[in-house]
Amino acid sequence: MITGKNYLGEELSNKGNITFKTFNPNQNKETAPVFFEATKEEVSFAVEKAAKAFESYKKKTDIERAEFLEAIATELEANAEALKEIYRAESGLPEGRSNGEFARTAGQLRAFAEMLKEGSWVEAIISNPEGKPDIRRMQVPFGPVAVFGASNFPFAFSTAGGDTASALASGSPVVVKSHPLHAGTGELVSEAIIKAAKKTGMPDGVFSNLNSKGIEVGEWLVKHPKIKAVGFTGSFKAGMALSKLAANRPEPIPVYAEMGSINPVLALPSALEEKGEVWAEHYAGSITAGCGQFCTNPGLILGVEGEALDAFIEKLGEDIAKLAPGVMLSPEIQKQYENSKSEVLSQDGYTQVSKFEGELQPNYGRQEVISVPGATFLQNTNFHKEVFGPFSVVVKCKDKGQLNEVLQQLEGQLTGTVLNADEKELQEYKEAIDSLTETVGRIIYNSVPTGVEVCAAMTHGGPFPATSNAKFTSVGLTAVQRWIRPVSFQDWPETLLPGALKTENPLGILRNVNGKYTTDSL
Ligand code: NAP
Repeated sequence: MITGKNYLGEELSNKGNITFKTFNPNQNKETAPVFFEATKEEVSFAVEKAAKAFESYKKKTDIERAEFLEAIATELEANAEALKEIYRAESGLPEGRSNGEFARTAGQLRAFAEMLKEGSWVEAIISNPEGKPDIRRMQVPFGPVAVFGASNFPFAFSTAGGDTASALASGSPVVVKSHPLHAGTGELVSEAIIKAAKKTGMPDGVFSNLNSKGIEVGEWLVKHPKIKAVGFTGSFKAGMALSKLAANRPEPIPVYAEMGSINPVLALPSALEEKGEVWAEHYAGSITAGCGQFCTNPGLILGVEGEALDAFIEKLGEDIAKLAPGVMLSPEIQKQYENSKSEVLSQDGYTQVSKFEGELQPNYGRQEVISVPGATFLQNTNFHKEVFGPFSVVVKCKDKGQLNEVLQQLEGQLTGTVLNADEKELQEYKEAIDSLTETVGRIIYNSVPTGVEVCAAMTHGGPFPATSNAKFTSVGLTAVQRWIRPVSFQDWPETLLPGALKTENPLGILRNVNGKYTTDSL
Protein backbone atom coordinates (compact mmCIF):
# COMPACT_ATOMS: atom_id res chain seq x y z
CA MET A 1 0.00 0.00 0.00
CA ILE A 2 1.27 3.49 -0.84
CA THR A 3 1.65 5.66 2.29
CA GLY A 4 2.99 8.82 0.64
CA LYS A 5 5.76 8.96 3.25
CA ASN A 6 9.52 9.26 2.92
CA TYR A 7 11.83 6.35 3.71
CA LEU A 8 14.56 7.65 6.02
CA GLY A 9 16.46 4.41 6.02
CA GLU A 10 13.99 1.83 7.35
CA GLU A 11 11.76 4.46 8.96
CA LEU A 12 8.67 5.89 7.26
CA SER A 13 8.34 9.61 7.94
CA ASN A 14 6.02 12.51 7.06
CA LYS A 15 7.01 15.45 9.20
CA GLY A 16 6.27 18.14 6.60
CA ASN A 17 3.02 19.77 5.56
CA ILE A 18 3.69 20.21 1.84
CA THR A 19 1.80 17.53 -0.03
CA PHE A 20 1.29 16.62 -3.67
CA LYS A 21 -0.27 13.97 -5.90
CA THR A 22 0.95 12.26 -9.04
CA PHE A 23 -0.98 12.45 -12.32
CA ASN A 24 -2.33 9.82 -14.68
CA PRO A 25 -1.74 11.32 -18.15
CA ASN A 26 -3.93 8.72 -19.87
CA GLN A 27 -6.91 9.45 -17.65
CA ASN A 28 -5.97 13.15 -17.45
CA LYS A 29 -6.56 13.19 -13.70
CA GLU A 30 -4.62 12.98 -10.45
CA THR A 31 -3.99 9.61 -8.80
CA ALA A 32 -5.35 9.03 -5.30
CA PRO A 33 -2.33 8.84 -2.94
CA VAL A 34 -1.09 11.96 -1.18
CA PHE A 35 2.69 12.36 -0.93
CA PHE A 36 4.53 14.28 1.76
CA GLU A 37 7.48 16.36 0.63
CA ALA A 38 10.55 15.77 2.80
CA THR A 39 11.52 18.58 5.18
CA LYS A 40 15.07 19.89 5.51
CA GLU A 41 15.38 17.95 8.79
CA GLU A 42 14.22 14.74 7.11
CA VAL A 43 16.74 15.23 4.28
CA SER A 44 19.48 15.75 6.83
CA PHE A 45 18.37 12.74 8.90
CA ALA A 46 18.46 10.49 5.82
CA VAL A 47 21.97 11.66 4.89
CA GLU A 48 23.28 11.30 8.46
CA LYS A 49 21.89 7.74 8.49
CA ALA A 50 23.59 7.05 5.14
CA ALA A 51 26.91 8.35 6.47
CA LYS A 52 26.59 6.13 9.54
CA ALA A 53 25.59 3.14 7.40
CA PHE A 54 28.63 3.71 5.18
CA GLU A 55 30.93 2.76 8.08
CA SER A 56 29.64 -0.83 8.09
CA TYR A 57 28.34 -1.09 4.50
CA LYS A 58 31.76 -0.48 2.99
CA LYS A 59 33.11 -3.39 5.05
CA LYS A 60 30.58 -5.88 3.66
CA THR A 61 32.17 -8.37 1.32
CA ASP A 62 31.43 -8.29 -2.39
CA ILE A 63 29.45 -11.52 -1.94
CA GLU A 64 27.29 -9.93 0.78
CA ARG A 65 26.58 -6.90 -1.39
CA ALA A 66 25.79 -9.20 -4.32
CA GLU A 67 23.22 -10.98 -2.14
CA PHE A 68 21.66 -7.62 -1.30
CA LEU A 69 21.35 -6.62 -4.98
CA GLU A 70 19.88 -10.02 -5.87
CA ALA A 71 17.43 -9.72 -2.98
CA ILE A 72 16.27 -6.32 -4.31
CA ALA A 73 15.56 -7.92 -7.70
CA THR A 74 13.66 -10.75 -5.98
CA GLU A 75 11.61 -8.34 -3.84
CA LEU A 76 10.74 -6.28 -6.92
CA GLU A 77 9.61 -9.43 -8.72
CA ALA A 78 7.50 -10.46 -5.73
CA ASN A 79 5.46 -7.26 -6.19
CA ALA A 80 5.76 -7.03 -9.99
CA GLU A 81 2.09 -6.57 -10.86
CA ALA A 82 1.45 -3.74 -8.38
CA LEU A 83 4.67 -2.05 -9.43
CA LYS A 84 3.88 -2.20 -13.13
CA GLU A 85 0.34 -0.98 -12.54
CA ILE A 86 1.41 2.16 -10.67
CA TYR A 87 4.24 2.69 -13.19
CA ARG A 88 1.73 2.72 -16.05
CA ALA A 89 -0.71 4.95 -14.16
CA GLU A 90 1.93 7.55 -13.27
CA SER A 91 3.81 7.61 -16.59
CA GLY A 92 1.23 6.74 -19.24
CA LEU A 93 3.77 4.28 -20.65
CA PRO A 94 2.21 1.15 -22.18
CA GLU A 95 2.20 -2.42 -20.87
CA GLY A 96 4.98 -3.70 -23.13
CA ARG A 97 7.27 -0.92 -22.01
CA SER A 98 6.46 -1.54 -18.32
CA ASN A 99 7.35 -5.22 -18.76
CA GLY A 100 10.57 -4.47 -20.63
CA GLU A 101 11.78 -1.78 -18.28
CA PHE A 102 10.92 -3.87 -15.24
CA ALA A 103 12.88 -6.87 -16.56
CA ARG A 104 15.77 -4.58 -17.42
CA THR A 105 15.83 -3.14 -13.89
CA ALA A 106 15.87 -6.54 -12.20
CA GLY A 107 18.42 -7.80 -14.77
CA GLN A 108 20.62 -4.78 -14.14
CA LEU A 109 20.68 -5.44 -10.37
CA ARG A 110 21.63 -9.06 -11.02
CA ALA A 111 24.31 -8.05 -13.51
CA PHE A 112 25.97 -5.87 -10.85
CA ALA A 113 25.67 -8.79 -8.40
CA GLU A 114 27.55 -11.00 -10.89
CA MET A 115 30.20 -8.31 -11.28
CA LEU A 116 30.71 -8.32 -7.51
CA LYS A 117 30.90 -12.11 -7.35
CA GLU A 118 33.55 -12.14 -10.06
CA GLY A 119 35.46 -9.50 -8.09
CA SER A 120 37.96 -7.98 -10.56
CA TRP A 121 35.99 -4.71 -10.73
CA VAL A 122 38.19 -3.33 -7.90
CA GLU A 123 41.02 -3.03 -10.49
CA ALA A 124 43.78 -4.43 -8.27
CA ILE A 125 47.27 -3.39 -9.42
CA ILE A 126 50.45 -4.55 -7.70
CA SER A 127 53.89 -3.07 -8.40
CA ASN A 128 56.74 -4.63 -6.39
CA PRO A 129 59.87 -4.87 -8.53
CA GLU A 130 63.18 -5.70 -6.76
CA GLY A 131 64.63 -2.80 -4.81
CA LYS A 132 61.54 -0.59 -5.00
CA PRO A 133 58.66 0.00 -2.57
CA ASP A 134 55.81 -2.55 -2.68
CA ILE A 135 52.76 -0.58 -3.89
CA ARG A 136 49.31 -2.15 -4.19
CA ARG A 137 46.32 -0.24 -5.51
CA MET A 138 42.59 -0.89 -5.63
CA GLN A 139 39.30 0.99 -5.85
CA VAL A 140 37.23 1.80 -2.76
CA PRO A 141 33.75 3.40 -2.43
CA PHE A 142 33.27 7.15 -2.22
CA GLY A 143 30.55 7.46 0.43
CA PRO A 144 26.84 8.42 0.36
CA VAL A 145 25.50 9.11 -3.14
CA ALA A 146 22.47 11.25 -4.05
CA VAL A 147 20.45 9.84 -6.95
CA PHE A 148 17.85 11.89 -8.87
CA GLY A 149 15.10 9.74 -10.40
CA ALA A 150 14.45 10.43 -14.11
CA SER A 151 10.96 11.25 -15.38
CA ASN A 152 11.23 9.10 -18.52
CA PHE A 153 12.43 5.83 -16.92
CA PRO A 154 10.50 5.28 -13.67
CA PHE A 155 12.16 1.88 -13.18
CA ALA A 156 15.49 1.69 -15.03
CA PHE A 157 16.83 5.24 -14.36
CA SER A 158 15.15 5.89 -11.05
CA THR A 159 14.78 4.50 -7.50
CA ALA A 160 16.39 1.08 -8.15
CA GLY A 161 17.82 2.00 -11.54
CA GLY A 162 21.36 1.99 -12.85
CA ASP A 163 22.64 4.81 -10.61
CA THR A 164 21.34 3.15 -7.44
CA ALA A 165 22.41 -0.37 -8.47
CA SER A 166 25.94 0.74 -9.37
CA ALA A 167 26.36 2.89 -6.23
CA LEU A 168 25.12 0.11 -3.92
CA ALA A 169 27.43 -2.32 -5.73
CA SER A 170 30.39 -0.03 -5.06
CA GLY A 171 29.73 0.00 -1.30
CA SER A 172 28.18 3.49 -1.23
CA PRO A 173 24.80 4.07 0.48
CA VAL A 174 22.15 5.84 -1.63
CA VAL A 175 19.68 8.62 -0.90
CA VAL A 176 17.17 8.97 -3.75
CA LYS A 177 15.41 12.21 -4.61
CA SER A 178 12.28 10.64 -6.04
CA HIS A 179 10.91 12.09 -9.29
CA PRO A 180 7.60 13.84 -8.48
CA LEU A 181 5.92 12.40 -11.59
CA HIS A 182 6.19 8.87 -10.25
CA ALA A 183 6.39 9.16 -6.48
CA GLY A 184 4.11 6.12 -6.01
CA THR A 185 6.30 3.88 -8.16
CA GLY A 186 9.27 5.26 -6.23
CA GLU A 187 7.74 4.37 -2.87
CA LEU A 188 6.88 0.78 -3.87
CA VAL A 189 10.35 0.25 -5.31
CA SER A 190 11.84 1.70 -2.10
CA GLU A 191 9.76 -0.72 -0.05
CA ALA A 192 11.34 -3.61 -1.99
CA ILE A 193 14.84 -2.22 -1.41
CA ILE A 194 14.25 -1.78 2.33
CA LYS A 195 12.85 -5.33 2.62
CA ALA A 196 15.90 -6.67 0.79
CA ALA A 197 18.25 -4.65 3.03
CA LYS A 198 16.63 -6.07 6.17
CA LYS A 199 16.63 -9.65 4.86
CA THR A 200 20.31 -9.54 3.94
CA GLY A 201 21.49 -7.77 7.10
CA MET A 202 22.43 -4.43 5.54
CA PRO A 203 22.74 -1.42 7.88
CA ASP A 204 19.79 0.91 8.44
CA GLY A 205 20.43 3.96 6.23
CA VAL A 206 21.99 2.09 3.32
CA PHE A 207 19.03 3.37 1.30
CA SER A 208 16.58 6.27 1.71
CA ASN A 209 13.89 7.75 -0.54
CA LEU A 210 12.79 11.38 -0.37
CA ASN A 211 9.63 12.82 -1.93
CA SER A 212 9.44 16.32 -3.33
CA LYS A 213 7.54 18.38 -5.82
CA GLY A 214 9.97 21.31 -5.99
CA ILE A 215 13.70 21.77 -6.27
CA GLU A 216 14.54 22.44 -2.59
CA VAL A 217 14.83 18.82 -1.47
CA GLY A 218 17.34 18.13 -4.26
CA GLU A 219 19.27 21.27 -3.39
CA TRP A 220 19.47 20.41 0.32
CA LEU A 221 20.60 16.92 -0.60
CA VAL A 222 23.37 18.06 -2.95
CA LYS A 223 24.55 20.69 -0.45
CA HIS A 224 24.68 18.29 2.50
CA PRO A 225 28.35 17.90 3.50
CA LYS A 226 28.03 14.13 3.92
CA ILE A 227 26.85 13.52 0.34
CA LYS A 228 29.93 12.64 -1.71
CA ALA A 229 28.64 12.31 -5.31
CA VAL A 230 25.47 12.81 -7.36
CA GLY A 231 23.82 10.83 -10.18
CA PHE A 232 21.31 12.69 -12.36
CA THR A 233 19.33 12.17 -15.59
CA GLY A 234 17.13 14.96 -16.89
CA SER A 235 17.28 18.39 -18.49
CA PHE A 236 20.37 20.45 -19.32
CA LYS A 237 19.07 23.26 -17.13
CA ALA A 238 18.66 21.12 -14.01
CA GLY A 239 21.89 19.16 -14.63
CA MET A 240 23.85 22.40 -14.88
CA ALA A 241 22.16 23.91 -11.81
CA LEU A 242 23.09 20.85 -9.73
CA SER A 243 26.65 20.78 -11.12
CA LYS A 244 27.14 24.44 -10.13
CA LEU A 245 25.65 23.83 -6.69
CA ALA A 246 28.01 20.90 -6.11
CA ALA A 247 31.05 22.80 -7.40
CA ASN A 248 30.34 25.72 -5.06
CA ARG A 249 30.19 23.62 -1.87
CA PRO A 250 33.04 24.08 0.62
CA GLU A 251 33.93 20.52 -0.41
CA PRO A 252 33.08 20.29 -4.13
CA ILE A 253 31.71 16.91 -5.23
CA PRO A 254 31.21 15.30 -8.65
CA VAL A 255 27.80 15.42 -10.35
CA TYR A 256 27.39 12.78 -13.05
CA ALA A 257 24.61 14.38 -15.06
CA GLU A 258 23.17 12.94 -18.26
CA MET A 259 21.50 15.95 -19.83
CA GLY A 260 20.17 14.97 -23.23
CA SER A 261 21.21 14.75 -26.83
CA ILE A 262 19.88 14.98 -30.39
CA ASN A 263 21.70 11.82 -31.49
CA PRO A 264 22.81 12.66 -35.06
CA VAL A 265 22.31 10.08 -37.77
CA LEU A 266 24.62 10.23 -40.77
CA ALA A 267 22.55 8.79 -43.62
CA LEU A 268 25.13 8.13 -46.34
CA PRO A 269 23.95 8.09 -49.98
CA SER A 270 24.51 4.35 -50.51
CA ALA A 271 22.20 3.46 -47.61
CA LEU A 272 19.41 5.69 -48.89
CA GLU A 273 19.86 4.49 -52.47
CA GLU A 274 19.80 0.82 -51.51
CA LYS A 275 17.06 0.79 -48.89
CA GLY A 276 15.92 4.32 -48.12
CA GLU A 277 12.33 3.12 -47.75
CA VAL A 278 13.26 0.60 -45.08
CA TRP A 279 15.32 3.15 -43.16
CA ALA A 280 12.45 5.65 -43.38
CA GLU A 281 10.11 3.13 -41.77
CA HIS A 282 12.63 2.24 -39.04
CA TYR A 283 13.28 5.89 -38.29
CA ALA A 284 9.60 6.80 -38.16
CA GLY A 285 9.33 4.10 -35.46
CA SER A 286 12.46 5.22 -33.63
CA ILE A 287 11.50 8.94 -33.57
CA THR A 288 8.09 8.10 -32.09
CA ALA A 289 9.22 5.27 -29.74
CA GLY A 290 8.17 6.10 -26.18
CA CYS A 291 6.55 9.21 -27.69
CA GLY A 292 10.05 10.51 -28.42
CA GLN A 293 10.90 10.63 -24.71
CA PHE A 294 14.16 8.71 -24.94
CA CYS A 295 17.51 10.43 -24.40
CA THR A 296 18.70 8.49 -27.47
CA ASN A 297 15.85 9.71 -29.68
CA PRO A 298 17.11 10.46 -33.24
CA GLY A 299 16.49 14.21 -33.35
CA LEU A 300 18.82 14.94 -36.25
CA ILE A 301 19.31 13.15 -39.58
CA LEU A 302 22.09 14.36 -41.88
CA GLY A 303 22.32 13.61 -45.59
CA VAL A 304 23.68 14.96 -48.87
CA GLU A 305 21.22 16.54 -51.33
CA GLY A 306 20.00 14.26 -54.07
CA GLU A 307 17.12 12.07 -55.22
CA ALA A 308 17.78 9.38 -52.64
CA LEU A 309 17.64 11.87 -49.74
CA ASP A 310 14.46 13.47 -51.14
CA ALA A 311 12.79 10.07 -51.48
CA PHE A 312 13.85 9.11 -47.94
CA ILE A 313 12.46 12.38 -46.53
CA GLU A 314 9.17 11.92 -48.35
CA LYS A 315 8.76 8.34 -47.13
CA LEU A 316 9.77 9.27 -43.56
CA GLY A 317 7.09 11.98 -43.63
CA GLU A 318 4.44 9.57 -44.91
CA ASP A 319 5.32 6.86 -42.40
CA ILE A 320 5.50 9.10 -39.36
CA ALA A 321 2.18 10.78 -40.11
CA LYS A 322 0.49 7.36 -40.24
CA LEU A 323 1.62 6.25 -36.78
CA ALA A 324 -0.73 6.55 -33.83
CA PRO A 325 0.45 9.33 -31.47
CA GLY A 326 1.36 8.41 -27.90
CA VAL A 327 0.60 9.95 -24.54
CA MET A 328 3.42 11.94 -22.95
CA LEU A 329 4.68 11.53 -19.38
CA SER A 330 2.80 14.50 -17.98
CA PRO A 331 0.89 17.63 -19.03
CA GLU A 332 3.99 19.73 -18.18
CA ILE A 333 6.27 17.62 -20.39
CA GLN A 334 3.69 17.77 -23.20
CA LYS A 335 3.55 21.56 -22.82
CA GLN A 336 7.33 21.78 -22.76
CA TYR A 337 7.45 19.67 -25.94
CA GLU A 338 5.07 22.03 -27.72
CA ASN A 339 7.00 25.07 -26.46
CA SER A 340 10.44 23.85 -27.50
CA LYS A 341 9.02 22.72 -30.87
CA SER A 342 7.42 26.15 -31.37
CA GLU A 343 10.76 27.79 -30.65
CA VAL A 344 12.39 25.79 -33.47
CA LEU A 345 9.42 26.33 -35.77
CA SER A 346 9.58 30.09 -35.24
CA GLN A 347 12.97 30.14 -37.01
CA ASP A 348 13.27 30.96 -40.71
CA GLY A 349 14.48 28.68 -43.45
CA TYR A 350 13.02 25.23 -42.74
CA THR A 351 10.50 23.11 -44.67
CA GLN A 352 7.82 21.16 -42.92
CA VAL A 353 8.03 17.53 -44.02
CA SER A 354 5.04 16.18 -42.16
CA LYS A 355 3.15 16.04 -38.91
CA PHE A 356 0.30 14.03 -37.48
CA GLU A 357 -2.80 15.92 -38.56
CA GLY A 358 -5.54 14.15 -36.59
CA GLU A 359 -7.21 15.08 -33.31
CA LEU A 360 -5.13 14.48 -30.22
CA GLN A 361 -6.31 13.35 -26.81
CA PRO A 362 -5.12 15.39 -23.80
CA ASN A 363 -1.39 15.02 -23.02
CA TYR A 364 -0.61 13.33 -26.36
CA GLY A 365 2.45 14.35 -28.39
CA ARG A 366 2.03 15.37 -32.05
CA GLN A 367 4.88 13.84 -34.09
CA GLU A 368 6.53 16.12 -36.59
CA VAL A 369 9.52 16.19 -38.98
CA ILE A 370 11.10 19.19 -40.68
CA SER A 371 14.00 19.59 -43.09
CA VAL A 372 16.53 22.38 -43.23
CA PRO A 373 19.36 23.22 -45.67
CA GLY A 374 22.91 22.65 -44.37
CA ALA A 375 23.74 26.36 -44.64
CA THR A 376 20.77 27.33 -42.46
CA PHE A 377 21.65 24.68 -39.87
CA LEU A 378 25.22 26.02 -39.74
CA GLN A 379 24.02 29.58 -39.18
CA ASN A 380 21.23 28.96 -36.69
CA THR A 381 21.97 26.83 -33.62
CA ASN A 382 18.28 26.85 -32.64
CA PHE A 383 17.98 23.88 -35.01
CA HIS A 384 20.51 21.97 -32.86
CA LYS A 385 18.41 22.09 -29.68
CA GLU A 386 16.92 18.98 -28.11
CA VAL A 387 13.15 18.89 -28.51
CA PHE A 388 12.14 16.23 -25.97
CA GLY A 389 9.37 14.39 -27.82
CA PRO A 390 8.57 12.86 -31.25
CA PHE A 391 10.32 15.48 -33.37
CA SER A 392 13.24 15.30 -35.77
CA VAL A 393 15.16 17.60 -38.13
CA VAL A 394 16.61 16.36 -41.44
CA VAL A 395 19.57 18.44 -42.64
CA LYS A 396 20.13 18.55 -46.41
CA CYS A 397 23.81 19.30 -46.97
CA LYS A 398 24.77 20.53 -50.42
CA ASP A 399 27.89 18.34 -50.56
CA LYS A 400 30.38 16.33 -48.53
CA GLY A 401 32.28 19.49 -47.52
CA GLN A 402 29.20 21.03 -45.97
CA LEU A 403 28.37 17.76 -44.22
CA ASN A 404 31.85 17.82 -42.67
CA GLU A 405 31.31 21.40 -41.53
CA VAL A 406 27.99 20.52 -39.91
CA LEU A 407 29.52 17.57 -38.07
CA GLN A 408 32.47 19.63 -36.87
CA GLN A 409 30.06 22.20 -35.43
CA LEU A 410 27.92 19.69 -33.51
CA GLU A 411 27.90 19.70 -29.71
CA GLY A 412 28.62 16.56 -27.63
CA GLN A 413 26.07 13.75 -28.02
CA LEU A 414 25.18 10.44 -26.40
CA THR A 415 25.04 8.59 -29.71
CA GLY A 416 25.90 8.92 -33.38
CA THR A 417 24.72 6.58 -36.13
CA VAL A 418 26.07 5.82 -39.60
CA LEU A 419 23.80 4.32 -42.27
CA ASN A 420 25.77 2.82 -45.14
CA ALA A 421 25.56 0.09 -47.78
CA ASP A 422 28.95 0.35 -49.46
CA GLU A 423 32.32 -0.22 -47.77
CA LYS A 424 34.14 2.06 -50.22
CA GLU A 425 31.88 4.94 -49.23
CA LEU A 426 33.14 4.66 -45.66
CA GLN A 427 36.56 5.83 -46.89
CA GLU A 428 35.02 8.56 -48.99
CA TYR A 429 33.18 9.93 -45.92
CA LYS A 430 35.98 9.18 -43.46
CA GLU A 431 36.30 12.80 -42.31
CA ALA A 432 32.59 13.01 -41.54
CA ILE A 433 32.59 9.66 -39.73
CA ASP A 434 35.68 10.67 -37.70
CA SER A 435 34.05 13.96 -36.67
CA LEU A 436 30.91 12.12 -35.60
CA THR A 437 32.91 9.56 -33.61
CA GLU A 438 34.72 12.33 -31.74
CA THR A 439 31.44 13.94 -30.74
CA VAL A 440 29.65 10.93 -29.22
CA GLY A 441 29.75 8.31 -26.46
CA ARG A 442 28.39 5.47 -28.64
CA ILE A 443 28.72 5.11 -32.41
CA ILE A 444 26.24 2.81 -34.15
CA TYR A 445 26.38 1.23 -37.58
CA ASN A 446 23.22 0.53 -39.60
CA SER A 447 20.64 0.62 -36.84
CA VAL A 448 18.63 3.09 -34.76
CA PRO A 449 19.99 4.78 -31.59
CA THR A 450 16.94 4.09 -29.40
CA GLY A 451 17.46 1.05 -27.17
CA VAL A 452 20.45 0.89 -24.83
CA GLU A 453 21.85 -2.54 -23.91
CA VAL A 454 22.88 -3.08 -20.30
CA CYS A 455 26.23 -4.83 -20.69
CA ALA A 456 29.85 -4.48 -19.67
CA ALA A 457 30.89 -2.69 -22.87
CA MET A 458 28.10 -0.08 -22.97
CA THR A 459 28.81 3.65 -22.90
CA HIS A 460 25.75 5.73 -22.20
CA GLY A 461 27.50 9.05 -21.85
CA GLY A 462 29.36 11.44 -24.09
CA PRO A 463 31.06 14.83 -24.33
CA PHE A 464 29.44 17.94 -22.83
CA PRO A 465 26.64 19.01 -23.07
CA ALA A 466 25.31 15.44 -23.40
CA THR A 467 26.79 14.79 -19.95
CA SER A 468 28.76 16.67 -17.33
CA ASN A 469 31.66 14.21 -17.56
CA ALA A 470 32.52 12.32 -20.74
CA LYS A 471 34.77 9.85 -18.89
CA PHE A 472 31.86 7.91 -17.47
CA THR A 473 28.73 5.97 -18.40
CA SER A 474 25.40 5.78 -16.58
CA VAL A 475 24.47 2.41 -18.14
CA GLY A 476 26.44 -0.84 -18.03
CA LEU A 477 28.78 -2.31 -15.49
CA THR A 478 31.44 0.41 -15.70
CA ALA A 479 28.81 2.83 -14.32
CA VAL A 480 30.24 1.74 -10.95
CA GLN A 481 33.40 3.76 -11.69
CA ARG A 482 31.51 6.96 -10.84
CA TRP A 483 31.33 6.00 -7.18
CA ILE A 484 34.83 4.68 -6.49
CA ARG A 485 38.29 6.14 -5.98
CA PRO A 486 41.72 4.53 -5.99
CA VAL A 487 43.85 3.96 -2.88
CA SER A 488 47.49 2.78 -3.00
CA PHE A 489 48.91 0.83 -0.06
CA GLN A 490 52.67 1.29 0.18
CA ASP A 491 54.77 -1.38 2.01
CA TRP A 492 51.57 -2.21 3.91
CA PRO A 493 51.53 -5.15 6.39
CA GLU A 494 50.04 -8.29 4.82
CA THR A 495 47.56 -8.77 7.70
CA LEU A 496 46.06 -5.31 7.08
CA LEU A 497 45.84 -5.56 3.30
CA PRO A 498 42.33 -5.97 1.82
CA GLY A 499 41.63 -9.45 0.36
CA ALA A 500 41.91 -8.11 -3.20
CA LEU A 501 45.55 -7.13 -2.61
CA LYS A 502 46.82 -9.98 -0.43
CA THR A 503 49.87 -11.87 -1.66
CA GLU A 504 48.06 -15.21 -2.03
CA ASN A 505 45.14 -13.65 -3.97
CA PRO A 506 42.54 -15.43 -1.78
CA LEU A 507 39.66 -13.96 -3.85
CA GLY A 508 41.13 -15.45 -7.04
CA ILE A 509 40.52 -12.22 -8.97
CA LEU A 510 42.31 -10.96 -12.05
CA ARG A 511 45.04 -8.52 -11.02
CA ASN A 512 47.72 -6.56 -12.80
CA VAL A 513 50.98 -7.72 -11.20
CA ASN A 514 54.06 -5.88 -12.42
CA GLY A 515 52.42 -5.21 -15.76
CA LYS A 516 50.90 -8.67 -16.38
CA TYR A 517 47.28 -9.66 -15.85
CA THR A 518 47.06 -12.82 -13.72
CA THR A 519 44.94 -14.62 -11.15
CA ASP A 520 48.09 -16.18 -9.60
CA SER A 521 49.45 -15.40 -6.16
CA LEU A 522 52.64 -13.32 -6.03
P1 NAP B 1 14.25 18.07 -14.96
O1 NAP B 1 13.47 19.32 -15.00
O2 NAP B 1 15.66 18.13 -15.36
O3 NAP B 1 14.13 17.52 -13.46
C1 NAP B 1 14.77 16.33 -13.05
C2 NAP B 1 14.88 16.32 -11.53
O4 NAP B 1 15.74 17.37 -11.10
C3 NAP B 1 13.56 16.54 -10.84
O5 NAP B 1 13.54 15.74 -9.69
C4 NAP B 1 13.60 18.01 -10.46
O6 NAP B 1 12.89 18.29 -9.28
C5 NAP B 1 15.07 18.22 -10.19
N1 NAP B 1 15.49 19.59 -10.46
C6 NAP B 1 15.16 20.35 -11.52
N2 NAP B 1 15.78 21.54 -11.46
C7 NAP B 1 16.50 21.54 -10.32
C8 NAP B 1 17.33 22.50 -9.67
N3 NAP B 1 17.55 23.69 -10.21
N4 NAP B 1 17.89 22.17 -8.50
C9 NAP B 1 17.65 20.96 -7.94
N5 NAP B 1 16.87 20.01 -8.50
C10 NAP B 1 16.30 20.31 -9.66
O7 NAP B 1 13.63 16.95 -15.84
P2 NAP B 1 12.18 16.33 -15.92
O8 NAP B 1 11.29 16.86 -14.88
O9 NAP B 1 12.39 14.90 -15.91
O10 NAP B 1 11.64 16.72 -17.36
C11 NAP B 1 11.69 18.03 -17.84
C12 NAP B 1 12.50 18.08 -19.12
O11 NAP B 1 13.79 17.50 -18.93
C13 NAP B 1 11.92 17.30 -20.28
O12 NAP B 1 10.92 17.97 -20.96
C14 NAP B 1 13.15 17.09 -21.13
O13 NAP B 1 13.42 18.21 -21.91
C15 NAP B 1 14.24 16.90 -20.13
N6 NAP B 1 14.59 15.46 -19.89
C16 NAP B 1 15.68 14.95 -20.51
C17 NAP B 1 16.01 13.62 -20.29
C18 NAP B 1 17.20 13.02 -20.91
O14 NAP B 1 17.19 11.87 -21.19
N7 NAP B 1 18.25 13.74 -21.02
C19 NAP B 1 15.26 12.81 -19.47
C20 NAP B 1 14.15 13.37 -18.86
C21 NAP B 1 13.84 14.70 -19.08
P3 NAP B 1 11.35 18.69 -9.30
O15 NAP B 1 10.71 18.06 -10.47
O16 NAP B 1 10.88 18.18 -8.01
O17 NAP B 1 11.33 20.17 -9.41
